[in-house]
Amino acid sequence: MPLRIGLFGGTFDPPHVGHLVTAVNVRHALTLDLVVLMVANVPWQKEGTRPITPAQDRLAMVRAAVADVEGLVAGEAEILHGGPSYTADTLMALSLEYPDSHLFTIVGDDAAAGIRTWQRYEEVVARSSLVVVDRPGEPMELPSGFDWIRVEVPHLDVSSTDLRARARDGRPLDYLVTDPVLDVIRARALYAEAM
Ligand code: ATP
Ligand code: MG
Repeated sequence: MPLRIGLFGGTFDPPHVGHLVTAVNVRHALTLDLVVLMVANVPWQKEGTRPITPAQDRLAMVRAAVADVEGLVAGEAEILHGGPSYTADTLMALSLEYPDSHLFTIVGDDAAAGIRTWQRYEEVVARSSLVVVDRPGEPMELPSGFDWIRVEVPHLDVSSTDLRARARDGRPLDYLVTDPVLDVIRARALYAEAM
């Protein structure tokens, strides 16, 4: 049986329960062996729009988030590769690392909506099955012409943007990120003097 591997890419600035609930539920629903939470090196679509936490700090948070979770791992490939992070390249790297595997690209519906803006998205489609989960809020219309596999996951109204705002204002992050992630945020003094 080929390994079934999910690629769940993100900036993870910071990783939160919405990411984790998505990863474990997609893994369960599609009987994946592994879900890789791949930390974007340079999220080129976000660059210039706001300061991005250094990749090594985001990797440390994702490692902390998945440490005790079966079937979830933190992915470092895009950081090691350097430069901007393109899913097409990462899928190629994964298929070399896991020959004969079935790859799944997992996205929230907001990310799915923009798939035609991804670098070489045709390669993403050719190399993987596309999996989409809904996020809270207005349902996004999914681009047509793709075979989306929809997976139902609990809708958690949490985003990294909201968490960064909370940290700035000194509002609690408890239960929105896991305790090991909070420990990394505190130890590295990420996001706010207030924390
Ligand atoms: P930001 O607000 O900084 O964009 P984010 O919370 O959207 O952060 P990302 O790192 O941008 O997190 O997202 C990585 C992936 O996780 C994307 O495919 C996104 O759609 C998905 N995702 C993020 N939050 C949720 C959530 N609450 N439920 C389901 N999927 C989510
Ligand atoms: Mg996002």
